[in-house]
Order: sequence, then structure tokens, then C-alpha cells
Amino acid sequence: MATYDYDLFVIGAGSGGVRAARLAAMSGAKVAVAEEHRVGGTCVIRGCVPKKFMVYASEFASYAKVAEGYGWSPSQSTFDWSKFLEAKDREIARLSGIYVTNLSNAGAEIVHARATLKDVHTVEIVGKGVVTADKILVATGGRPWSPADLPGIEHAITSEEAFHLPQLPKSIMIAGGGYIAVEFAGIFAGLGVDTTLVYRGANILRGFDDDVRSHLAEEMKKKGIKIILGCEHASIEKTDAGLVNHMSSGLDVVTEQVMFATGRKPHTKGLGLEAAGVKLADSGAVMVDRFSKTNVDNIWAVGDVTDRINLTPVAIREGAAFSQTEFYNNPTSFDHDMVASAVFSQPPVGSVGQSEADARHEHGKVDIYLSRFRPMKTTFYGGDDRCLIKLVVARDSQKIVGCHVVGPDSPEIIQMAAIAVKMGVTKAQWDSTCAVHPTLAEELVTMRDKYVPAGLSAA
Ligand code: NDP
Repeated sequence: MATYDYDLFVIGAGSGGVRAARLAAMSGAKVAVAEEHRVGGTCVIRGCVPKKFMVYASEFASYAKVAEGYGWSPSQSTFDWSKFLEAKDREIARLSGIYVTNLSNAGAEIVHARATLKDVHTVEIVGKGVVTADKILVATGGRPWSPADLPGIEHAITSEEAFHLPQLPKSIMIAGGGYIAVEFAGIFAGLGVDTTLVYRGANILRGFDDDVRSHLAEEMKKKGIKIILGCEHASIEKTDAGLVNHMSSGLDVVTEQVMFATGRKPHTKGLGLEAAGVKLADSGAVMVDRFSKTNVDNIWAVGDVTDRINLTPVAIREGAAFSQTEFYNNPTSFDHDMVASAVFSQPPVGSVGQSEADARHEHGKVDIYLSRFRPMKTTFYGGDDRCLIKLVVARDSQKIVGCHVVGPDSPEIIQMAAIAVKMGVTKAQWDSTCAVHPTLAEELVTMRDKYVPAGLSAA
């Protein structure tokens, strides 16, 4: 029997790779994990975590108005971007350090270098030599993508640079209508940057429920974000006045900064996957089965590099399932159905299950329960922020197949709602839950009347 330097070699120390490496090492296997940047991956270093700190930072501006409405004296406060960056970087370093400690405590070796495949069992640790491994796990994540052929694209930043801007711009144009575009639009606007979002489609957040999309767009506009729809960049020109965004509609918009949030691509280039015979999809994603195994018998892949559902907790579960299967003799596959997600826009969105359109497509007839209202905290000070709560129910089975919330704390609310939806709860069971009062979320269990948009019949 062949012997190898390692039982498992993991390429990429992000959420999926670290979870898989730790679990495998804790089983007694000899494990190494290679990372060319900092341990923690996209989520911890340049994604979810620093983004959430930026969301928190940007929310304070609106608190002053709310506080005044509640009787506090007007106060003058200013925001210091460099002070925030310092604090953010300190916290990210602390969290990255925890990942390192957890890996080491589990007995996994961390290789601080780029690793590429030479063949199915051989890994080149760039600049340091080669090692062999029985099993290999690819967990290299994704990278921002922007259209390289757009004239002037070199003047635009992506989310990666947005975390480290030397100073806040006075104005920004954000291209894209997905998670990252709407989240950063809220962040920049909250921090006082004159913010415009341009999206090529009919409304932001394609794939989400249409009521969620339109509700969020309206709420974002109330916060001063300009949203241009059905339009995209023709070019970007650098001038003394700033960056001129030449749009497909003929409109020219001058901004100090331009950010492209036009999607992310699996990070597979130059990894040597071809040398190992690993099959890739046209998108560059590593193709895997439900156990995250590639077409090569001893190579697996988890997380964004497989482009299934590109969310941190999903990568973690895929990594854990891999280690359970391969190192604990417990075949486990992660169920990608009914995964909840949150968009940390302002207001945020929490969503689990199907949009109304997808549910109509799959189940035929559906019942819709929908409520739009001003939360009590807002009505008190005379604000005009509105929440949206929507349930999508398959009419025949009466199961709740979609739950969508736009409003304060919706990411926290949806985490709990997702448990019941994932378990296949019916509307009657859902309604048997007594409300918690006074909360925003109580509306979820008190909607009794089916929603019929004006001018339509209930069918
Ligand atoms: P998304 O795929 O969510 O959105 C990409 C956006 O860019 C879409 O609006 C898309 O338009 C648009 N686009 C694509 N190509 C072009 C082009 N050539 N010109 C103009 N617009 C274009 O990607 P993101 O980068 O926002 O996020 C990547 C992924 O990361 C998400 O899908 C999500 O899985 C994950 N993520 C999750 C977060 C969370 O959980 N809160 C936060 C951030 C990221 P169209 O719709 O027309 O295709």
C-alpha cells in the first residue's frame, strides 16, 4: 500500500477548508492545510465579517434622528474612517488568530504558502517543495469578477479594495444588483457617501421574491440611495473632475469612486486541477457529487469553488460532511434545500425557501400572506421606514414553502423561521404558535387573510 506524507491535504484555509481540516485532524488523521493569504478566507478576511462591521458602523448615522424622536437632545457626532479601519483590522486579526489556534489545537499543520496540484496525490508547495497526500480537498473559494473588456474598468474597485480604502469617497457608483452591491450601497450611503447603484435588470436582487425586491428598492431610495435600473456601464473615464461613468442609456454620472459588484467566480485558475484530471464546469467551478467528491477518486471540493450555494455556513456544512464521510466512517451529504440567507442591506432581508414566482412554477396554486407596516419603533418618532413580511404557501399541501422578511432584525428572525420551514410546517401549525408581543416578528403568525394584489383574483 502506498504511503503518503499526509492523510489529507487541504488547499485553502477558509470556512469550508478549516472545518474539514479540523474535523479530520481530530479523528487522528495527519492533516495539512495550505493558505496563500491569511487564515480565515473570504468570510473572515474580506467578506461577511468585515462587511458586517461596516454595516454596524454605517447604521449609527440614522440613530441620531431616532434618538431625538425619543426625547434625546440633538447631538453632533462625526465618523473617523481611519479609526474604524484600525479597529476593524484589529478584530479581523484576532478572529484569524482564533482560526489558527483552532487548527493547531486540532493537530492540523498550517502551511503558509500557495499550493498547486502536480498529480492526483502530489501537491507542490510553491517555493518550498512537494508533498504527497492520500486525499486532497480543494477549498479555494471565489474571487470578485468584473468585465475585463469594459473600457476604463481599471479605475473601478471591487469589494476587496472597499475594505481598505485610504479614505471615504464623497461619491460612489456601484455596478451590480446582487448581495454585495446592495449591501455596500447601504454601507456607503450610511457613512455619508453620495451613492448611486446601477443595475442592468428590471430590479435589484434577481432570484429573490419580487415583492422583496421592489420593497427593498423603495426603502433604499428613502435612505437617499439613487438606483438606476435597466442600464449598465458603457465605459469609465478618468478626468480631473472625477470618474465619468458613461452609461448605456447615454447618461454620464461623475463620481469619485466606482465599485463593481458584478459577481464572483470560483478560484480554480493555476491550481493544477487539469494536471490531476479534475473536471471543471464552464464557469470554472469544480464539479462534485453530493458527497463533494470530484471525478477523481481521492479529490474533493467544498465551498464557493464548487459554486453550489455560495454562503459560509454552507461551505462549513459541506466541509463537515466530507470529513464525517471520509474520516469517521459516517457517510454524510449536506442537504442544499431550504437554506436561509440574509442580505445585510439597509433595511436587511431574511429569506428562506421559494419566491412566489418559483412556488407558482413548482406547486401550481399558492396562497400568499403579506403584510407591509411601519414598526412601532418607527411610528413613535414619525419615521417612514416600512417592513415587509410574506409567506408563500403551497395550496394543496398547505406547507409554507417560502418566508421572506424585509426590516430590522430580519436576519435574526429568519434563522428561527427557517427551522420550521425546513421541517415542512403547514400554515395551520405555524398559526398555532402564539405571538410574542410587541415585536415585529409577531406579524409572521398573525396573518390570517390571503393576500390578493389589487385587480387580481385569489387564484
Ligand atoms: P451576485 O451573483 O449576487 O450578483 C451579481 C450582480 O452583478 C447581479 O446583479 C448581476 O446581474 C450583475 N452582473 C453580472 N455580470 C454583469 C455585467 N457584465 N454587467 C453588469 N452587471 C452584471 O454576486 P455578488 O458579487 O453580489 O455576490 C456573490 C455571492 O456571494 C452571492 O451570490 C452570495 O452567494 C455571496 N454573498 C452572500 C452574502 C450574504 O450572505 N449576505 C453577502 C455577499 C455575498 P444579473 O442579476 O442580471 O445577472
